[in-house]
Amino acid sequence: MYSNKTDPVAIVAPAARPADAHKKVDTKAIQALDAKHYMHAFTDTKSLGQVGARVIVKGQGIYIWDSEGKRLLDGMSGLWCMNVGYGRTTIADAVHAQMQELPYYNSFFQTTNVPAVQLAAKLVEISPAHFNHVFFAGSGSEGNDTNLRLIRRYWDLKGAKERNIIISRENAYHGSTIAGASLGGMSGMHDQQIGVTIPNIVHIGQPYYVEGGKGKTPEEFGLVAAGWLEQKILEVGAERVAAFIAEPVQGAGGVIIPPSTYWPEIQRICDKYGILLVADEVICGFGRLGTWFGSDYFGIKPDLITFAKGVTSGYIPMGGVLVGDRVADVLIEHGGDFNHGFTYSGHPVAAAAALENIRIIQEEKLIEKVHNETGPYLAKKFGELNDHPLVSIAETCGFVAGLNLVKKKGPTLHECEAFDSSLEVGMICRGHMFGNGMIMRAVGDRMIIAPPLVTTVEQIDEMVGLIRFCLDATLEDLKKRELI
Ligand SMILES: *Cc1c(COP(=O)(O)O)cnc(C)c1O
Repeated sequence: MYSNKTDPVAIVAPAARPADAHKKVDTKAIQALDAKHYMHAFTDTKSLGQVGARVIVKGQGIYIWDSEGKRLLDGMSGLWCMNVGYGRTTIADAVHAQMQELPYYNSFFQTTNVPAVQLAAKLVEISPAHFNHVFFAGSGSEGNDTNLRLIRRYWDLKGAKERNIIISRENAYHGSTIAGASLGGMSGMHDQQIGVTIPNIVHIGQPYYVEGGKGKTPEEFGLVAAGWLEQKILEVGAERVAAFIAEPVQGAGGVIIPPSTYWPEIQRICDKYGILLVADEVICGFGRLGTWFGSDYFGIKPDLITFAKGVTSGYIPMGGVLVGDRVADVLIEHGGDFNHGFTYSGHPVAAAAALENIRIIQEEKLIEKVHNETGPYLAKKFGELNDHPLVSIAETCGFVAGLNLVKKKGPTLHECEAFDSSLEVGMICRGHMFGNGMIMRAVGDRMIIAPPLVTTVEQIDEMVGLIRFCLDATLEDLKKRELI
């Protein structure tokens, strides 16, 4: 019934300018409409409806503003993507110009477009030497669907159809399509898709020292965790394994930073059994670790690289796969159509945004900055949080960081007393962070950040200062509630 509907146009005055956008937004009305019609990602719609979503109206640099005019320091770069920061007018200009010239065309009909070609060449230039081809998609999830198709096609053409098992890791995140969720190791996602997970995808443990490293040095544990891959290969039969997929540093799983010994051993095992190595670089790509790709950081040589997020800094959706020579040569030399692709593969507007984003990263030397200056500074400042009574470990890798909240510190990391997980102490802490203008994400009782690469030394001081202030507030709160 039409009368039942609110006219959304009435809520934001048409003349609203970003600078004072929040003054033009009726927060309550937007929240009510949101609760009524909008099913958010990974959200309990019922309970969000009761509290009302925070309405974000503006971004500039590393800060965002809500519709009440409150400023927040975005320690999560949106969702790990806002690498060059908010408010980049040159990206907006590039998008505007491309929309006027050619807003869309496909690449199905033996056709192409200029920005997509230029972007493919640019991606080849910045990626490791054995990458000479790019397959475009619309998101990271679609990139991983593409990987699955490429892996199957590769082994089929190699006459080894029986190589159809893909090994992934528990607590991995590879997206939310059926393929993404099946490849991923998020138990909460698997629980909700009983009967629809893709067969022949198996998982091994994650290289999470806090969880599994008791009684070992990180270096010893890294070898043990990599050894799980070899065990699994032998268990299912080496001649049946097609590929191993992993994030260089797990992001959504809670910024799981592997010990230094892990990746070289994984590479050795993949080489030994001839299995394809897929690096899901949706987070680690485009400078996150102070190198173009996480693979550069850890010195590994994957056959396929998934990208998304940082490729456009989130300004326009885009994802895809860098296809290494080992796979590309087989597909191309054999010939025949690769029956896969998306309407928006190689979207010219997204490609224009990506080209300008990468130009900014290069011109402002953001990767060198993270590598030489701000990354080490973040490591030092964030590391100082190790002295906090709630923190068992605070660690960084480039521009990702995580710290674990514990009830009682012990003489060593593995002798600390954890909180009862049902108390959701991480969420309590996140509440204090948001309340005080700091966006820090909770994964269980691990608090994580992935700030924009443009964050300055002064802003790191501000950010870590805010985090410490909020940890203090959390501690007081927990004492008051008698949870500690
Ligand atoms: C975000 C993410 C994805 C999924 O990307 P979408 O664009 O949300 O589909 C895949 N892999 C990793 C490692 C991610 O962080």
